[in-house]
Amino acid sequence: MERSTKILLQVSQMLLKSGPMDLDMSLVLSQLRELSGAKFGIYNAYSDDGMTFQNKAISGFPQLVQKAYAILGFSLDGRNWEISPERVKEISVGMPVRFKDLYALAQSALSRNTCKLIEGAIGTKSIYVIEINAHGKTIGDFILFFNRDSELQNPAEATTIANMTGVALHRQKSEEQILQKEKNFRAFFDTIDNYLFILDMNGNVLEYNKTARDKLLYEPSEVIGKSVLNLHPASRRDEAATIVKEMLEGKAEFCPVPLITSTNKLIPVETYVKHGVWNGKPAIFGVSKDISALKESEEKFAAAFNLNPAIAGLSLLETGEFVEVNRAFTEKLGYSKEEVIGQKSTDVLKLDPKFRNRNVTKLSSEGRIFNEEGIIFSRNGDPIDVLFSAEVLELNNRYFNYTTGIDITHRKRLEESLRENQLSLQSQTNRLMALIAHLPGGILLETHNRKVRVVNQRFCEMFGIPAPPETLLGADCRQCAQAAGRLFTAGEDFTSRIEEILSEGKPVLNEELPLNDGRVFERDFLPVKLDEGINEILWYYRDISPRKKFEQELEKARLRAEESDRLKSAFLANMSHEIRSPLNGILGFSDLLRGTILSKEKTQEFAEIIFNRGNHLMRLINDIIDVSKLDSGQMKINPVALDLDALLREISHSFSQEMKLEGKGNIRLELVSPFQPFWIETDEMRLRQVLENLLSNAVKFTETGTIEFGYHIRDSYLQFYVKDTGAGIPEDMQESIFDRFIQAAAHNEKQYGGTGLGLAIARACTRLLGGDIKVESTPGEGSVFYFTIEYHKAGMNKPGISEELPDTSLLNHDTILIAEDDDVSYRYFKEVLGEYDLTLLRSTSVKDTVNIALGTEPVKLVLLDIQLTDGEGWEAVRIINKHKPNLPIIAQTAYAFENDRQKSLKAGCNDYIAKPIRKDELLKLIFKYLGKNK
Ligand code: ADP
Repeated sequence: MERSTKILLQVSQMLLKSGPMDLDMSLVLSQLRELSGAKFGIYNAYSDDGMTFQNKAISGFPQLVQKAYAILGFSLDGRNWEISPERVKEISVGMPVRFKDLYALAQSALSRNTCKLIEGAIGTKSIYVIEINAHGKTIGDFILFFNRDSELQNPAEATTIANMTGVALHRQKSEEQILQKEKNFRAFFDTIDNYLFILDMNGNVLEYNKTARDKLLYEPSEVIGKSVLNLHPASRRDEAATIVKEMLEGKAEFCPVPLITSTNKLIPVETYVKHGVWNGKPAIFGVSKDISALKESEEKFAAAFNLNPAIAGLSLLETGEFVEVNRAFTEKLGYSKEEVIGQKSTDVLKLDPKFRNRNVTKLSSEGRIFNEEGIIFSRNGDPIDVLFSAEVLELNNRYFNYTTGIDITHRKRLEESLRENQLSLQSQTNRLMALIAHLPGGILLETHNRKVRVVNQRFCEMFGIPAPPETLLGADCRQCAQAAGRLFTAGEDFTSRIEEILSEGKPVLNEELPLNDGRVFERDFLPVKLDEGINEILWYYRDISPRKKFEQELEKARLRAEESDRLKSAFLANMSHEIRSPLNGILGFSDLLRGTILSKEKTQEFAEIIFNRGNHLMRLINDIIDVSKLDSGQMKINPVALDLDALLREISHSFSQEMKLEGKGNIRLELVSPFQPFWIETDEMRLRQVLENLLSNAVKFTETGTIEFGYHIRDSYLQFYVKDTGAGIPEDMQESIFDRFIQAAAHNEKQYGGTGLGLAIARACTRLLGGDIKVESTPGEGSVFYFTIEYHKAGMNKPGISEELPDTSLLNHDTILIAEDDDVSYRYFKEVLGEYDLTLLRSTSVKDTVNIALGTEPVKLVLLDIQLTDGEGWEAVRIINKHKPNLPIIAQTAYAFENDRQKSLKAGCNDYIAKPIRKDELLKLIFKYLGKNK
């Protein structure tokens, strides 16, 4: 056999025998080199995509290879070279293709120089490339290098080797791919978590995966080739058998029967099957899914569902029918499960339709509702407040509405009663605050750490705080107290007292605090016990200024009452003395006149004394009546024109007389006056009264020296004065002596008597006359009393009663009617008028008076007493005036009663005369109406 044929045979046998993984391309290449006579060979494998190739085997002298690498600068091993499509085309001709040198082959992948160097190093020149083809695709090539002078030998055999290599490589690749697929499948089969079984059409197991092996724990021999029913629990094997039968017949795809392990543990599974082909035969592929976790969670859910204290129900979303309700549902709502399951939730729960619709909308749009408050009704109609939550659940492709309702009825009740409590607390607080706000006093409540807790408006007012009370809340009480301290007379003591009270901690009541502005506050301190150990501090301030003032006035009034009581006693004592003394004189001397025959002088003297004392008594009585008139406001003035000069002279004259009588002739009485007529208009009687009063005081309190009196004209006033050199009046009494009953204390040693009324009356009179009275006095030296009256000039000299006694001889046989019921008074008239040429008639009643006056007697004048036996004389005046308007009527009025005088003139009397009637005055008056020279 030829060597080439031998090689060909060897190579073909090698390629045939080799398995997928053990094809040795170096061996193939070296055989090819030997066959072809090449010095050097390379095998290149093309990538599947035909873009790159890699040098996979080299054959030749290893030293030369290293040399070539040194020239290239790199090893060819593992290096990817780009495939040139032109070259592939060039070599795909089914026979070796010759290139004249390396540069021609490298096609600019290597420089000409490099190619030359390599050719030199390995000592080659011509190059042959043989394509390796499989199924028409170039999958690699052999490159054979030849010495300079040699060429490829056995080209046909070399091509055959390349072709056989192509087939072998292709086969190798296919086998590799199958192996890989098998591996992939096995890995996939084993890594799947589900239990995978492959059954033959008898229901015996052909194959099962790692999961099934590991979980079911059987020996493969117990499973492979055995019925799948063995893997199901004996108790359900019949059921499984039926299903497996149906599955084999293609009638069933699902089996719920659990699997059982070799250790007898049940594994709940859901098994789905598919028909297919395994190893060319019809088979069934089964996938069992372990649903223990699901089962467990289902059980957990059921337990949770049932034990849930909230009312819970599961209903079909579509129809609203209950499919499950929990224990709380049945217990709280009073339905049994049977009554509810299958019923519509709306029928059972009787929800407010509005509430329901709102929540159904929300549930369908948002997929859930959470804690919506609503009311459901139990079977017997009791309302239950609940917090609804609902969610849509998907179970086995069906939609459910899972609704829970937490019963908050109890909480609601609590909330309501809490709210009620709060309201009542609030209203109580409001009432309390209103009470505090309206308290008449100022309230300040401090916290235990002395911050303002409560304060009212009144407090702010009392302390002059302009801000509203709310703004003080929380303020520091110490600072407030310091600021307030300035208001009080106690000043700094105010604050230290507060500290003292606080440290003692005992209630303090009615503490008086005078203020600088005259007000007086009263303060209470009350510690208020709140909780154990915590005290609040309550201050209550009252403005007691009005009460204080009232108390002071009450005290004054009490003192005044005591004083006036004392004064009244003194007055009564004095009065008795004042009345007794003149009476004593009158009675004593009249007794003397009555008994013995006395000389004319003595008779004259005694009569003077009696007259004088009578006048004295008269003044006393007048004083008392004046005081009562002052009290009743009846003191009126009656201005007339008078000659002041004449009046003063007359008073001066009568006082000179009196002083002599009193034994005070040593005192000089001096009237300071211009001594010429000075006509003014005033109340003569009152003016006289004041002057006489002051003069009689001056006489009474003066022992030696001078009494001077007179007047000055001051603009619209007349100022009178009475000056003496007597005892004087202590300064502190100079005001009060003008009050009634007040007598200066300094005179206590000496009994002056008197009633203490004179100056009070004098002051009232001067004020009535438009002026006032005052005194200037130095005790021991004397006093000056000044008084003023309004000055009204009298226009003309009004006719008055002349000073001189009229010439009574000019009275002639005239008849006078005297209406007088008092016998003594009538006797007096008879005595006075008896010596004149007059006829006197007497009447005692109104009736008689009228009869006589209008009768036949030639009555020329009526002297009419107002008080008659059968009534008041006014009636008589009225009738007489009516019938004899020209008959003059003179009323006799009691001096004391001002009214009578006014009334009598008003009633129609022509004139009046005051009782006691003096002889001179009476005569002057009678003469005025009956005098012949009129
Ligand atoms: P009476 O004279 O009746 O006591 P008055 O009212 O006239 O009452 O006087 C009151 C008091 O004034 C007298 O009691 C006396 O103490 C004092 N008084 C009045 N006038 C004088 C005076 N001229 N000199 C000293 N004291 C006088």
